[in-house]
Amino acid sequence: MDLSEREFLFELRCCRWVERVWKPARDPAIPLVARQLGTRNRRWDTIVLECDPDALAHRAKFGLEALDSDLLHVIRHAPEEWEYYRDALPHPGYPWRYVREAIHEGDERGILETRRVGNKIEIKRRWPYRDWVERIVAIENKPDLDSSAARTLRPQLEYDVALSLADEVWVATAATDERVEPALLEVLPVEAGILTLEPDTLDAEIVWYPRTLAVEKPGTRILERPTGGGHDASGAAFEYVDPEEKTAIRRQIAERAYERGWRSFVETMRPDCRHFELRSNGQFLPFCAAKGRCQTASECSSRCGDLEPEPPAWRMRGWPLEGGPGKRLKQLLADRRRRRRPNL
Ligand code: SF4
Repeated sequence: MDLSEREFLFELRCCRWVERVWKPARDPAIPLVARQLGTRNRRWDTIVLECDPDALAHRAKFGLEALDSDLLHVIRHAPEEWEYYRDALPHPGYPWRYVREAIHEGDERGILETRRVGNKIEIKRRWPYRDWVERIVAIENKPDLDSSAARTLRPQLEYDVALSLADEVWVATAATDERVEPALLEVLPVEAGILTLEPDTLDAEIVWYPRTLAVEKPGTRILERPTGGGHDASGAAFEYVDPEEKTAIRRQIAERAYERGWRSFVETMRPDCRHFELRSNGQFLPFCAAKGRCQTASECSSRCGDLEPEPPAWRMRGWPLEGGPGKRLKQLLADRRRRRRPNL
């Protein structure tokens, strides 16, 4: 198994572990897991959202699909009574035509009421939008955390700590017979937690506890850093990010996580290939019967040399409506995702 296969499988197992075992900081909170999400500059492997149970159930009223930033602006400020949209909403800081597009989208999705009075569009909310995420935890997966991997990881973790967009940052590494070297821990920022995970048994050990980051305070976005070479006298370039912007970004990440979850790996694979299976201890991880192992998302594409589309006859036998086993597998994973989103 090469490194990318190992990392992909480890990442999926880490998501599964979080879903089953994670204990949110506040007891009744519900953990919701997603993967490969973040911002333009930084994508996290695994994300844990610790959600207020009531607010999470209320979020379901808006459907599975994420509310993007334009739609969030409208939905969050939509009035209780009919009002001309430009009077009801704060100026968005971008042209009003984008607001109108978001209003139409909200109307089509059935999450906003709209009507025309003369040539004016009036809006009214159907439900208030409640912030449903209490804490965000970012986990970087490094199954082979040797000193070279730790050095590569360090700038990314420093970026996370300086910006403090997530409440906690962790590194998850595969458990081995050897303990994590103290020298290795020194390479990583002290604010980052470290856990070792035994992927098959889902046992985990916390090697280092993280510090809670100041999400409610201004953060620093590191834009550039010196290369560190002997002739490099340049300084780091950075910008401040105010707490309101951080809150808005956190909300958008949460919305995308709500829609995608972590089982969306199947969306970028070929479950319609006859060799595609979901296996492994009831965890429903991808498995390629042709390769005899878990395949990565980049392997499992139309460029794969072993790809064999499921025969049309499979779509006639027992799956006349659903369209074949590939679609059924997608549905199975989608059902699992829905189960984690109460009231949906
Ligand atoms: S043969 Fe290729 S396309 Fe088919 S399941 Fe395996 S990796 Fe995916």
